[in-house]
Amino acid sequence: MAPAEDNVVVPHKKLEKLLSMKGGKGEASYVNNSQAQAQHARSMLHLLKDTLDVVQLNSPETPFAVADLGCSCGSNTLFIVDVIIKHMIKRYEALGYDEPPEFSAFFSDLPSNDFNTLFQLLPPYGGSMEECLASDSHRSYFAAGVPGSFYRRLFPARSVDFFYSAFSLHWLSQVPDAVVDNRSAAYNKGRIFIHGASEITADAYRKQFQTDLAGFLRSRSLEMKRGGSMFLACLGKTSLDPTDQGGAGLLFGADFQDAWDDLVREGLITSEKRDKFNIPVYAPSLQDFKEVVEADGSFVINKLEVFKGGSPLVVNHPDDAAEVGRALANSCRSISGVLVDAHLGDQLSEELFSRVQRRATSHAKDILEHLQFFHIIASLSLAI
Ligand code: SAH
Repeated sequence: MAPAEDNVVVPHKKLEKLLSMKGGKGEASYVNNSQAQAQHARSMLHLLKDTLDVVQLNSPETPFAVADLGCSCGSNTLFIVDVIIKHMIKRYEALGYDEPPEFSAFFSDLPSNDFNTLFQLLPPYGGSMEECLASDSHRSYFAAGVPGSFYRRLFPARSVDFFYSAFSLHWLSQVPDAVVDNRSAAYNKGRIFIHGASEITADAYRKQFQTDLAGFLRSRSLEMKRGGSMFLACLGKTSLDPTDQGGAGLLFGADFQDAWDDLVREGLITSEKRDKFNIPVYAPSLQDFKEVVEADGSFVINKLEVFKGGSPLVVNHPDDAAEVGRALANSCRSISGVLVDAHLGDQLSEELFSRVQRRATSHAKDILEHLQFFHIIASLSLAI
């Protein structure tokens, strides 16, 4: 018999109070499972630099402000901020200025993000004590953490020159109410994600994505300095069908979905308990994204395209099925584990991810062959 429903059900509207990638430095932490994001970001550096080249330079007496929205915790954000600032310094030097401006770097994410771990990684503190003492690594910017949702205002008006956001905008501000309402036609019965769901369910997600992105653009258009730009990358897909979520569909709609079904079949949770859980992620098509940018009208589109990112798994021995299974389970857990823990409690969450791992191990080859991410890339400048 399934246990009584006495553990916490995530109030989905309070998602932003809860959502974060797995903090700390453990096996399933984001710090230890974000090498694929690092690789994908590196493969887009030329596009990032093209965007930096169109930012209007002010006189070096004015500080230059950069913000990474959805920075999470780990070295990815530090690497990117460093690239951005070094590139801007080069641009000032090319104009013949002796001294570049001072730089502010704002690391922004939801309040439950592990900012402590992130701050401890900031140069010159990152690494071991010996490494700190031996290295001459330094930081050429003033750092600050900014907690809050990027779907609303985070900064004073006209205060930021450049916004960067990678692999974050596919997170919705909430699971649409109708999707978890069993009286609604959009109720996502039997599923924890929209991949392969009914069209009406997926459409509720698409609308939520577009409403959220509109809030993001409205806020940034007020916060960006005139002449400023931004570079955005989020999960995307090549199909126009919202129920086909591409790589995200394989990550959340296959072994992860089956593992939830295992828990129901084994009587560890009820089917209602499973159906109340939905991953608040939507991988948009280019069209979904473009419609919102155009309707907002505050930004000139320098570039808007779908970019092949590659696999979300980084493994040392692709032939080792156990390693692939573990990598998939850890990767899935590093991004959804906090939500799953809150919905199921730690013990059942452990059960769930051990089933994800077992299932993934049993068809590792297939996963490596088919699990590919596409990203939507947007380079936007403020229209005057
Ligand atoms: N940019 C990093 C991290 C991506 S993980 C990298 O390239 O590796 C996605 C991040 O988006 C998470 O840290 C998550 O907390 C954050 N995020 C999701 N929704 C958000 C919101 N509404 N406002 C701010 N951050 C959000």
